Amino acid sequence: MEFARSGFGKVRGLLGGRSGGSPAAATRLSGTEQQQALLLLHDYEQSGLGWFWSTNSEGRIEYLSHCVAAKLGKDIGALVGQSFHALFAPDDNEDEAAAQRSLPLILSAHKPFSERVVRAANEAEEVWWSISGRPQFSGGTFLGYRGNGSDITASHRSHKDASRLAMYDSLTGLANRHRMTQRLTAILTAYKAAKRSCALMMIDLDRFKQVNDTLGHPAGDELLKQVAQRLQQVVPEKCETGRLGGDEFQVILPDVDDRGNLGEIAKKIISILSQPYSVEGSRCVIGASVGIAIAPYDGISSDELVRSADLALYSAKGNGRGQFRFYSADLHNEAERRRQIEEDLRDALGNDQIYLAYQPVVATSSNIVVAMEAVLRWRHPELGEVSPGIFIPIAEETNLIGALGDWALRKACADAAGLPGNLRVAVNVSPMQFANPGFPSLVTQALADSELAPERLELELTESIFLNVDSDIDEMFAALKRVGVRLALDDFGTGYSSLGYLKTAPFDKIKIDQSFIRGVTEPGSRNLAIIKAIVSLAEALDMDTTAEGIEAHDELDLMRSLKVSQIQGYIYARPVTLDEVEEAMANGEWVIDPSGPNRYRSDRMTVLRKIGLIHEDYRYEVTMRNLSRTGCLIEGLLDVPIDTHFVVDFGEGQLAVAVVKRSTGSMQGLEFELPLVDDGAGGLCTRNRVSPYLLAAAGMPLASLPEGYYPLAPGGSHGPASFSMPRFAEMNDAGRKSGRA
Ligand code: C2E
Ligand code: MG
Ligand code: MG
Repeated sequence: MEFARSGFGKVRGLLGGRSGGSPAAATRLSGTEQQQALLLLHDYEQSGLGWFWSTNSEGRIEYLSHCVAAKLGKDIGALVGQSFHALFAPDDNEDEAAAQRSLPLILSAHKPFSERVVRAANEAEEVWWSISGRPQFSGGTFLGYRGNGSDITASHRSHKDASRLAMYDSLTGLANRHRMTQRLTAILTAYKAAKRSCALMMIDLDRFKQVNDTLGHPAGDELLKQVAQRLQQVVPEKCETGRLGGDEFQVILPDVDDRGNLGEIAKKIISILSQPYSVEGSRCVIGASVGIAIAPYDGISSDELVRSADLALYSAKGNGRGQFRFYSADLHNEAERRRQIEEDLRDALGNDQIYLAYQPVVATSSNIVVAMEAVLRWRHPELGEVSPGIFIPIAEETNLIGALGDWALRKACADAAGLPGNLRVAVNVSPMQFANPGFPSLVTQALADSELAPERLELELTESIFLNVDSDIDEMFAALKRVGVRLALDDFGTGYSSLGYLKTAPFDKIKIDQSFIRGVTEPGSRNLAIIKAIVSLAEALDMDTTAEGIEAHDELDLMRSLKVSQIQGYIYARPVTLDEVEEAMANGEWVIDPSGPNRYRSDRMTVLRKIGLIHEDYRYEVTMRNLSRTGCLIEGLLDVPIDTHFVVDFGEGQLAVAVVKRSTGSMQGLEFELPLVDDGAGGLCTRNRVSPYLLAAAGMPLASLPEGYYPLAPGGSHGPASFSMPRFAEMNDAGRKSGRA
């Protein structure tokens, strides 16, 4: 290279036979010096280390070293006379492409340049050159360029590899945290100006640590690679997927703000990541939780958006895993509540806040209660009743489940032993309790202390005990069978584990999960066929079946016709206290008549919430009593005519156009113009929200959506609603007619 420069400096005046006006050209060389220089030049060209080129005043090639033509697979004669640019190919790398684009500008301005990196117009292999050139003038007239070049492919490649290493995760090949942050910042900055939106998903694997701990780190690494591959299969094109570290992944989705679409994508991600993996010969199953935030609604800068998505993820994980969550301002309170729950749970057992409720399990044919399931309850001094769906996962994480589970087991055995008759009691067992080799002796001890006959105790195990199987599981089953207790497979159908274990694991009962029951009576439901199959499988294996979560008569009738042996659900009873059980069993046998709605209304959820209703330019505050995808029931306005149009303001920029379909006194049934979509937390939300850009245009400072309502008026003007007289009379909370709000 050094030689190239100095050698070239000496000989460039000779190139192309010119005796031009450049100072070097004027250097006087003696005959031998000229001879020497030409020889050196020749050697240099021959060595392949560097090459020379010159162009005429129109930018067409006049001279080119042979090695360049050879590299391009062309004849030198075909290249001479061509435009100089024909030697180079465009590159897809943004930075290099920009550098390459600026070269024509320099050339047309007749400026010198040195060591420009360009890509050769070479199809067979990637070749990179560094080129330099100096313009030649004669008395102020531009004559063309002379220059040199060299092949830098090897060093360029290692430079590219190094920057790739800095930007990509070497394990999965996905973008790393550094690159994701860079991309997100760049996109958000550009989009802010263009008023475009961009979604961000944070993905965290559930139970990954377990795999890492039991199967080892190489297996964990292998699993992460497979996760990355699956993610790339489901993430839409134009999105960037990265691994931030550990089992944390991130997806940037430019120009997506439809929460219906995002929910679908999140569901797909969770579903594909939850399918079983084969890792180093072992089968393992993990899950995934997803938090979603959308710019500009939930954050405008990359920091804000990441924080919002993180909070949504935290909430998704806190709500039983395998779920997605959209960011909402409420989550701040929720996160605070969860921290409080975590803290208070430690003392709950000692403070007598924990108790057991019992839900009857009824024989389908006779309505006789044959068993009861013990379910944990926590009466929190400030929060009231906290659902086990929330505190059991926390107990599992904080290692409190052992103490809690042991207490429940002992208490349930003692309670059942005090009841007349042979009523069985079912106790839920967490996979973490089941993994404890000392568990069978805890069961033996509880039975001995309470003097309950072993066959009256049923342990409910979930499919997750099979997730990351080690060899001890058969021994555990055998030990429990030796104790003489019954085993039930709980929540059947919610996991992704194989049916194979049903043949070998000694279950006495399968409990069909309520998610299979929901919608089973609707025409065309596939659940029907699945339940049929489960029942005949159970019969063949001599197991009982219990259908969980039966609420309506049509569901009960169907379960009867399918010959499901037992029913557990609100149609017979909700979980009740021990006192109520004792009272009901005073006469020995406990028979319950089913009572419930005729049909299960799957999509209508009971709510009690204040919402805004905008009509003309007036905003009313009303109470929403129930909500479905397609409509809601509201209370608070008197005598609203059918077909009145409202804009429903659910808060946080969520507006829905609705029309009154039913109206009686102070109650109206509204139908939405566009259906709502899942919010991931069992609730519903609007697909889109009022953009903060619109609010900004109306004079509000541009920030992600603030909490609560926005003073929006329908019909174009997004400024604060001007308060004219209301058209409809409003009821106050006491149910009296009142004037204006
Ligand atoms: P699970 O074992 O599947 O218990 C059945 C759940 O379904 C109970 O909820 C019950 O109240 C509810 N359920 C029963 N019938 C109906 C119905 O007709 N409609 C509806 N919507 N729900 C119905 P719960 O008591 O909130 O318990 C939730 C879960 O918490 C239980 O699901 C179980 O997995 C866990 N859990 C409860 N107690 C314990 C415990 O002592 N130990 C462990 N490890 N887990 C427990
Ligand atoms: Mg259960
Ligand atoms: Mg269950």
